[in-house]
Amino acid sequence: MDRPRSLELDLLIHGTRRTYQDDHCRCSSCTAANTAYTSDYRSGIRAGRPPLGAHVANLDVDRAIARLVTEGFSKARIARALGYHYPWLQYGAGVTWRTVYRLQRLEREWTR
Ligand SMILES: [Zn+2]
Repeated sequence: MDRPRSLELDLLIHGTRRTYQDDHCRCSSCTAANTAYTSDYRSGIRAGRPPLGAHVANLDVDRAIARLVTEGFSKARIARALGYHYPWLQYGAGVTWRTVYRLQRLEREWTR
């Protein structure tokens, strides 16, 4: 996206990944913040500790939900337990690790 480098850039908070991503600022401090995030993200993945907000494949979520449904839990109940606003499971755009961990906790608590 082409944006004029103007006063708009002077008003941004530099040195943040958000500014790098959302405002497309490529100054050295925003680039460094993005590089640090990416480095942390990759080492977390390698160590089996992905950031809670990172997205995960829907397949793993489908399997976890299928196991709970097989155990007799309704999708509406699962959705409520996950903190969804509505009593249905809607994750077409993908879910985060936070949701996966919540599902795993539900499985542990509900199926022991
Ligand atoms: Zn910047």
